[in-house]
Order: sequence, then structure tokens, then C-alpha cells
Amino acid sequence: MTVWKLKCTECGNVWELRTGMDISKLKDGRIYHYCPYCKRNTFHVIVGREDEA
Ligand SMILES: [Zn+2]
Repeated sequence: MTVWKLKCTECGNVWELRTGMDISKLKDGRIYHYCPYCKRNTFHVIVGREDEA
């Protein structure tokens, strides 16, 4: 699993997403995902990643 640090472009909050997917390969570098702060789908940018065992 990889822990992705995603920053919401709407509210600016950074939160962590755990997934086995490599979301860094998305073509425009932005991820459309549900934001737990906005409570709706927004664009996010990747600000960090950590690999978990
Ligand atoms: Zn947000």
C-alpha cells in the first residue's frame, strides 16, 4: 500500500489516501477524488507519498 498526501485545491487541506493504485501516473497530475473536508469530489494535487509494508 502507498500513503498519498493529497491537497485539495478547493479547501487547501492535506489528507492521506491509502491505496494500492499508483495515482502518480495520472496525466495532468491532478486527482479528482472525494474530499473529506469539502464532503464532495474536488481536484487534488499530490504533495507527498510514503510506501507502507
Ligand atoms: Zn476540500
